[in-house]
Amino acid sequence: MKTGHKVKSDPRRGLPSVERLAQAVRQSGCELADWALRDAARALLDQERERVRISDKATPTLENLIVQARARAEAMCHPHPRRVVNATGIVLHTNLGRAPLAPGAVAAVAAAAAGYSDLEFDLVSGKRGDRQTAVAGKLARLGGSEAALVVNNNAAAVVLALNTLARGREVIVSRGELVEIGGSFRVPEIMHRAGVKLVEVGSTNRTHPRDYANAVGPDSALLLKVHRSNFALSGFTAEVDLPELAAIGAEHGLPLLEDLGSGTFVELPGLPREAYAPERLRLGADLVCFSGDKLLGGPQAGLLLGSGAHIDELRRNPLARALRLDKLSLAALDWTLDAYLAGTAARELPVLRQLSEPSERLELRARALAERLAKLAGAAARVEVHTQPSPVGGGSLPGLELASWVVAVEPAAGAERVAGRLRAAPVPVVARVRDARLLIDVRTLLDGDAEALEEAFRLALR
Ligand SMILES: *Cc1c(COP(=O)(O)O)cnc(C)c1O
Repeated sequence: MKTGHKVKSDPRRGLPSVERLAQAVRQSGCELADWALRDAARALLDQERERVRISDKATPTLENLIVQARARAEAMCHPHPRRVVNATGIVLHTNLGRAPLAPGAVAAVAAAAAGYSDLEFDLVSGKRGDRQTAVAGKLARLGGSEAALVVNNNAAAVVLALNTLARGREVIVSRGELVEIGGSFRVPEIMHRAGVKLVEVGSTNRTHPRDYANAVGPDSALLLKVHRSNFALSGFTAEVDLPELAAIGAEHGLPLLEDLGSGTFVELPGLPREAYAPERLRLGADLVCFSGDKLLGGPQAGLLLGSGAHIDELRRNPLARALRLDKLSLAALDWTLDAYLAGTAARELPVLRQLSEPSERLELRARALAERLAKLAGAAARVEVHTQPSPVGGGSLPGLELASWVVAVEPAAGAERVAGRLRAAPVPVVARVRDARLLIDVRTLLDGDAEALEEAFRLALR
């Protein structure tokens, strides 16, 4: 009989059971739902078992497990999406939900959501109505077009237009415009899925009128122009402008579709001219499409404006039904378009207000915020104020930067560390980090955000 042989015990045995850990979390004063406590405990214990198995480390204490399981369960129970403070200065931040709606649009959404409505009911005749008639009429009026149509988002608008006007046939587009937007919208792939044949013309940096003209053949159905929403071409470049392209289309009997990406119905100083949709139609596009939640400042939607014949064709495509806009977005869009019609858009839409806020106002806001943050930070951080160029972002306005004002916070605990804590605050704060400093850009702070920011910093600098 061997003696003195120590049997090494399996350290995994030191871990509690799922039920026991869930119970312990509950007894620690946590009032979250049982399913979340159990799921969190199970996931954490799986991870710990694996960690102990491969690294031979000691099992964590029960107290430590409780804290971790509780944090996991809390994360599971947060609503999603939930409010965050956008301190990046990027007005149209796709990951942060793009355009915030105006309060009036929010109220319109709430009213449409809470009850019945005449969504597809004609109150005069008492018969079935059309969900689009009202917004389509307003869009056509604003854009100076014969007709208009709305769908779920601009990607859907592009698919619908391509599939309707060119299914099984050729669409001619410049190599300089085969863009990818946000990783999931790539022009060549969208064209393939829409059932059209891509005919690329020109080169990456230069495309000439003769490139388009030479590509026209018996199978051609459409000319496509795509806005380079998220990059700029500079240097030795050439592109065919809209009137020239429209002339080529007219000569060969081909319609011209422009995917504007970002479009609006006001001309604001400092914003690029090509985003002004009415002008694109005047310059010769037969159809233009753009997003509702970029520069327009409304809900997610895809807006199509153009000739009555083309819009009619699009409307009759069975895909239009699959891509239709829901009633909540429709309500927000209708309110937003009313603001443009009333001439109050620049004043009422958060996106337009943020983009046109004067530098002096931004500076005042930055200084006021810096004072409050410096007071609560004490020795835990150095706080300064300075100007900073910030991109407008959101795949909207390539290379366009606006001079903004930022509060730069240099925490003793390290900027990345504090940035992580700010994201874990009751109202999470998303800020840029540069050169060991957190940059709080005041341009994108909305009503109530300053208080949320202060609270987040109070916790993060503790
Ligand atoms: C943003 C963008 C799209 C996609 O629009 P969504 O509304 O996000 O679907 C398509 N084309 C261009 C040129 C864009 O900038």
